Amino acid sequence: MKKAQKITIWLLPLIVIGGLFYPILGYLVLAMMAVLLVMSIFKGRHWCWNLCPRGAFLDIVMPRASLNKPVPKLFARQWFRWSVFFAFMIFLVFRLSRSGGSFAAVGAVFVGMCIITTVISVILGAATKHRAWCAICPMGTLQEKAGKVRSAGSK
Ligand code: SF4
Repeated sequence: MKKAQKITIWLLPLIVIGGLFYPILGYLVLAMMAVLLVMSIFKGRHWCWNLCPRGAFLDIVMPRASLNKPVPKLFARQWFRWSVFFAFMIFLVFRLSRSGGSFAAVGAVFVGMCIITTVISVILGAATKHRAWCAICPMGTLQEKAGKVRSAGSK
């Protein structure tokens, strides 16, 4: 467990529980997406292993509830990871298009996405390894790509 994770882990219940009452907390998700994307260009997946609230939850809480079984090999396949990425992005755009565009409704969409992905990450973490979700997390896939693009560009 990293020191920062002890702090960032609290952002997860703040968003998934607090967001039900205060949808504007969903903008924290948007802010984190922006930070992790910029960070990934310079530091690869530093966000994932040190700062991500869900990653912290999966590291600190889920090992106690995990069956610790092998992660499906499918999760390592690029086509599968990118399929998950695009499925989530299409779902996100669809939900945003149906939100009506109000400030609170858009925040609620991001709260909803955070709840859905957290539930999936808990199910996967319990059934396989605690960090199984991180193998297919759309934001993880994007960070990895951004890091690779930068290192290819600097060669
Ligand atoms: S892969 Fe996703 S859930 Fe896992 S630590 Fe990275 S951003 Fe967080």
